[in-house]
Amino acid sequence: MGKVLIIGAGGVGTVVVNKVAQNPEVFTEIVLASRTKSKCDVIAKAIGSDRIKTAQVDADNVEELIALFNEHKPELVINVALPYQDLTIMDACLACGVNYLDTANYEPKDEAKYEYSWQWAYQERFKEAGLTAILGCGFDPGVTSVFTAYAAKHHFAEMHYLDIVDCNGGDHGKAFATNFNPEINIREVTQVGRYWENGAWVTTEPHEIHKALTYPNIGAKESYVINHEELESLVKNYPTLKRARFWMTFGQEYLTHLRVIQNIGMSRIDPIIYNGVEIVPIQFLKAVLPDPGELGENYTGETSIGCRIKGIDKAGKESTYYVYNNCSHEAAYKETGAQGVSYTTGVPAMIGAMMFLTGEWRKPGVFNVEEFNPDPFMEQLNKHGLPWVELFNTDLELD
Ligand code: NDP
Repeated sequence: MGKVLIIGAGGVGTVVVNKVAQNPEVFTEIVLASRTKSKCDVIAKAIGSDRIKTAQVDADNVEELIALFNEHKPELVINVALPYQDLTIMDACLACGVNYLDTANYEPKDEAKYEYSWQWAYQERFKEAGLTAILGCGFDPGVTSVFTAYAAKHHFAEMHYLDIVDCNGGDHGKAFATNFNPEINIREVTQVGRYWENGAWVTTEPHEIHKALTYPNIGAKESYVINHEELESLVKNYPTLKRARFWMTFGQEYLTHLRVIQNIGMSRIDPIIYNGVEIVPIQFLKAVLPDPGELGENYTGETSIGCRIKGIDKAGKESTYYVYNNCSHEAAYKETGAQGVSYTTGVPAMIGAMMFLTGEWRKPGVFNVEEFNPDPFMEQLNKHGLPWVELFNTDLELD
C-alpha cells in the first residue's frame, strides 16, 4: 500500500520498525535511517526481514534529508528521532512532497521548552502542498488524545474535567534510569508544573501538586501534576473543558536522583568548557546513564496510562468515564526487544502511519491526532498489542 521512511533508531524506532514489518499488507516498503547507521542495521537484522533498507542521515541537516527523501521517495516519514529534528524534517517533507508523522512536539535545543506553535505555523504550507502532518502520535501525546476524542464522540455531550494519568508500575532494577531519551525526559520532568483551569494556564513549582492515585492491576502510586504537551491542543480542541491536568507517577528514589542531578548542575543544557572541549552537561549525563532501549531485558511490571473524564453524558446526566491501557514490559520485550515505554510509543506511531496509508487519516494540513476520527485507530489498538478498557461512573479519585 505504501512506502515509509522511519527516522531514529532508538528504543521507539525499534518498536516502530518491528510493528511496521509485521504489517506488510499496509507497509509494502520500509526504510530506516538514523544518525548512526550501524544501529539501523542491528534492528533490521534482528527483525530479519529483507524488506528493511537502512541509511545514514543527520536529521538536523535539511539538505541531507532532501537527498535521502529523493533517493527513497517515501509516501510518509515517521519521525522518531528527537523533538529537536521536527522542523528540519517537516521542511524536507515540504521540499520533497512527503507526508509527516511524529510523537513529540518541537523543542529548541538551547531552551527546555516545548509547545505546538512552531509546528502549527506549518499549517498553510502543508495545506497548500496537499500534504498531511500528524503531530504527537505516541501514547501521551497520541493515544491519550485519541481516548479523549473517542470520549467526546461517543460518551459526552460536554466534557468538563480531564485528567490524564500516566503510571509506570514497572521495575527495571537500576538505581536510576529514564524510560525514554534521558536528555528529553529530564528536560520534561524538571520543568515547572502547568495545568488548565477556567480558561487560563496555572503554573506550579515542579512536582508541587501530588496525590496517590489507584491504577488498575498496579495499585496506589504517588502521582504528580506536570506540564505535558497534549494539554495544549486538547484544551483548544475541546473548549468545554474547565480543567485539564496531566499526572505522572514517580518513585521517591527517582525524585531524589533527579534533585541531586539538578543541584550539582548535571541537568544544565548550556555548554560548558571541560578540558578545553565544549560539552553540554545533560548530554554528557545521557552518555553515562543506562540506554532506555536496553532496559527491557530485566524489566518487570506494567504501565497504565489513561484518561479520567467527568462531564455531561449524551443522556444529559453528569457522569464519569475512565479509559486506559495497561502494557506489560515483559510482553513488550518478548515481542520487540524493547521495554514498555518504547512499545506504548512505537505501536501508536505505526497505527497512525497505517491510518494515513489506508486513507482514514488523510487531509491536507497540520493536525493533532484528536482532530481525526478516533474509531479506526481505537480498533487497531486492540489488534496490535495495546488493548483498552472502559469504566463508567466509577470514582475517579479526582475532585
Ligand atoms: P532514543 O534516544 O532512544 O532514540 C533517538 C534516536 O534518534 C537515536 O537513534 C538517535 O541516533 C537518533 N537521532 C538523534 N539525533 C539525530 C539526528 N540529528 N539525525 C538522525 N538521527 C538522530 O529516544 P527514544 O527512542 O526513547 O525516543 C524517540 C522519540 O520518541 C523522542 O522524540 C521522544 O520524545 C519520543 N517519545 C514520545 C512519547 C510519547 O508517548 N508520545 C513517549 C516516549 C518518547 P543515535 O543512535 O546516533 O544517538
